[in-house]
Amino acid sequence: MLHRMLYRTFLRFALAGCVFMSATLAPGYSQQMPTPVENAGAASGTAIADNEFWPGARYDANIPTMKRVLGYAPGEKITSPSDALRYMRALAAAAPDRVKIFDYATSWQGRPLAYAAIGSAENIKKLGEVKAAMQALADPRKTNDAAAALLIDQTPGTAWLGYAVHGNEISTTDAALYTAYHLLAALGDPVTQEIHKNAVVFIDPVQNPDGRARFVSHFENTLGLAPSGSRIAAERREPWPSGRMNHYLFDLNRDWYTQSQPESRGKTAAILDWKPLIVVDLHEMGTDSTYYFAPAAQPLNPHLTEGQLNSVETVGRNNAKWFDRFGFPYFIKDVYDGLYPGYGDTWPAFYGAASLTYEQASPRGLKAQRTDGTGYTYGDAVRNHFVASISTAQTAAAKRKELLATFYDYNKTAVTEGQKEPRKTYIFPARDDSVAAWELAELLTRQGIKVQTAQDDFTSCGKAYKRGAHIVRAAQPAKRLIRTLLDSDSPMDAAFIKEQERRRAKGLGPAVYDVTGWSLPVAHNVDMAVCNAALPVSDTFKPFDTNPAKGVVTGPRAASAYLVEWGNVNAVRFLTHALRDGLHVKSADSAMTIGERTFAAGTLIFETAANDRDLRTRLARIAAHTGANVQALASTWVDAGPSFGGAATPRIDAPNIALAWDAPTDPLKAGATRFVLERRLDYPVTPVRVAHLGDKGLDQFDVLILPGARGRYDTALGTSGTRALQDWVRRGGVLISIAEATRWLANPDTNLLSIRRENAATRGGVPSRGEKAGAFVDGVLLENEAAATKATEPAKERPDPSLGVLGRAQVDADHWLGAGVKPTIATLINGGDIYTPITQDNGVNIARFVGANDLLASGYLWEETAKQFAYKPFVVVERHGDGMVIAFTQDPTFRAQMNGLDILLANAVLRAPAHSRKLR
Ligand SMILES: [Zn+2]
Repeated sequence: MLHRMLYRTFLRFALAGCVFMSATLAPGYSQQMPTPVENAGAASGTAIADNEFWPGARYDANIPTMKRVLGYAPGEKITSPSDALRYMRALAAAAPDRVKIFDYATSWQGRPLAYAAIGSAENIKKLGEVKAAMQALADPRKTNDAAAALLIDQTPGTAWLGYAVHGNEISTTDAALYTAYHLLAALGDPVTQEIHKNAVVFIDPVQNPDGRARFVSHFENTLGLAPSGSRIAAERREPWPSGRMNHYLFDLNRDWYTQSQPESRGKTAAILDWKPLIVVDLHEMGTDSTYYFAPAAQPLNPHLTEGQLNSVETVGRNNAKWFDRFGFPYFIKDVYDGLYPGYGDTWPAFYGAASLTYEQASPRGLKAQRTDGTGYTYGDAVRNHFVASISTAQTAAAKRKELLATFYDYNKTAVTEGQKEPRKTYIFPARDDSVAAWELAELLTRQGIKVQTAQDDFTSCGKAYKRGAHIVRAAQPAKRLIRTLLDSDSPMDAAFIKEQERRRAKGLGPAVYDVTGWSLPVAHNVDMAVCNAALPVSDTFKPFDTNPAKGVVTGPRAASAYLVEWGNVNAVRFLTHALRDGLHVKSADSAMTIGERTFAAGTLIFETAANDRDLRTRLARIAAHTGANVQALASTWVDAGPSFGGAATPRIDAPNIALAWDAPTDPLKAGATRFVLERRLDYPVTPVRVAHLGDKGLDQFDVLILPGARGRYDTALGTSGTRALQDWVRRGGVLISIAEATRWLANPDTNLLSIRRENAATRGGVPSRGEKAGAFVDGVLLENEAAATKATEPAKERPDPSLGVLGRAQVDADHWLGAGVKPTIATLINGGDIYTPITQDNGVNIARFVGANDLLASGYLWEETAKQFAYKPFVVVERHGDGMVIAFTQDPTFRAQMNGLDILLANAVLRAPAHSRKLR
């Protein structure tokens, strides 16, 4: 979770770090361990102790050690993902009655993901009953208090331990392996016995195998005779993009509700299957730190319950007990918040788990050196995570009844609150964008939310709705997830906000780590109505069908052309498949009326004469695959709008798309952009390292996308590279910049954009440095506190960064870049990059933010930041020679969550080359 800290003020973190950094590990760790139980272990095999992780422990020799299977003891090597699963399978082979392995996903690079259920033979035998019991407790509409009491009495506690969601947070996986071994092999240990008797432990040793493999490969490629603890040693400093992310460079610890990645989809489905009482996500943080576990820091998501927070504290307190006993330093309630629902320690809370994050200071290799000169080994880090893992399993066993009762109560109160609260029915009307509504309903269903679809027209809150509308009733166990994902706002604690406003006024950074706005209907741009009355239960509403509709071809067989209406993601996929299939396709720049029917701007045109004989068959195949419908036309006569043979229906050629890759791009942003184009819109892109963008090879590309960056494009490209890029644009290239890349193009030295970034507009009034030359400035009177504060403000500074909100923008419907795009869209507004609007002589503002009062769609935004963003550009286009620059001032592919921006992005990437004058 390292980078979450960047959002937090350094001061606050350093303070937490300092307190514990000075504490050293208590010497004689092994002597402080409880003495092993004397009378145990004599019966089966020779007890061995090949490490000191649980000093004095005696182990069953029938259970294979890591040394026997992998050739090294825990902590001696950084285990690869394939070896991790090999070892888990070896444990299962040795103790098949106490371990069950479940494969749950395959990564993009083809690596298997699996978790193990571990417990006593008796508990593993009745795993099916455990699952059924948890599902019964999770639905109090079917399980009354008496039935629940019986289940609470009989069901073992369950804990889900997830390791290495960030691939370079290495000690977690080896701790997982040792935890599994210890649970199976420890003899006569009272803690293990307690866990066997009363708990089932789920261990997911590698949540992100592709990222971990990347780290391990890099580490092994740079390791020499002896490991180095140096902070600048090559083995401990990863090259771009690091092993943190998965193949598409997603931070999987932000993907729990978006579920765009196979690793997240498989994991969330598995977790919802078992509904474990405790879910822990194990991480690593900065090398200088110590150990962190929940309770989490403010701000907390308002939909977490008190019972749940108490359960979290129970887990934390037991960890503290062990850490105190062993003299391991730790901290709680700092840095890691619980507001955003996409983390591994928040999303499981919304089915009722006590969910927590653990963070171990990262050795980032086999040896680590702190800045204060102290050090620790990989084995130390593995040991800490192992102890926390065993402690957690112990809590699941010892406190199982309280945890089960809290879980049942969580689900029960969710239903009753859903019955009482004003937001009783969420409705997604059946309108033109049924595809987006379907996708949203499917995403909700996947997370355990019951969605229904109207089979007939109905009314709700006095409004009429057509059949095909999807509805979500709040009175269900998933109520709190429904509210956090669908409501426009999940408000932070008022006192917390007040404190942040106070800090901001003093120029201190706000203590919010991630985005504050994520509402799914806003991000997907899906219409939603909320009614304060419950809809009657009737045959009108049937469970949502998760099978997507297949598109078909309709109209005369002797067709002269076929149309696919533009405006939803299925149509975009239709276009990309058609282009990849080599079909001849045109697109209308504005709306057309043909007979009775109007087709939206952007509609795709396939002319029979321009294509091969099997056109209809091929269109039918693409329609079935993508879900988009095709309309056959007997005649190409257009009653209103552009004719097929005119200039306003340009041909779309399959563009060659390059995407800037490697430093200085931000791997998260480069990865998300690549993912959205390749896996959402189904079109391949070629990643090109920034250092090579000035090469001749760029000529074979029609489009170049510059994603958001952490470093500077100008230093990476140099003067000659920049000039080559400018020439490429003038010769007809389409250059698309996103977020920080737009900064570079708008810099006067680059001069590929005429817009400029703004300083904060609200400062000034007080004469201060810079306004007058010379040693003296005009004197001023500071008459009150406010004036005094004002006088400390810099005369010129960047606008205060927005804390990741969703904001509304208006689209220019007259421009082909706006074709098929809804008139109002929402985008993430992150950071403080605010640009001047483009002037008419230089280009067009394709999308601009709306007025300050209507701007905010989801999250928390500073008032003056909203005022300054108002009416400023989100997307502009500017022509240069035969080519053009399309600039996004904010990232439309953020975490692959902004489905509502698909069409705008597709227009820029696929349609723009048809409007450039590149010689082909
Ligand atoms: Zn992490």
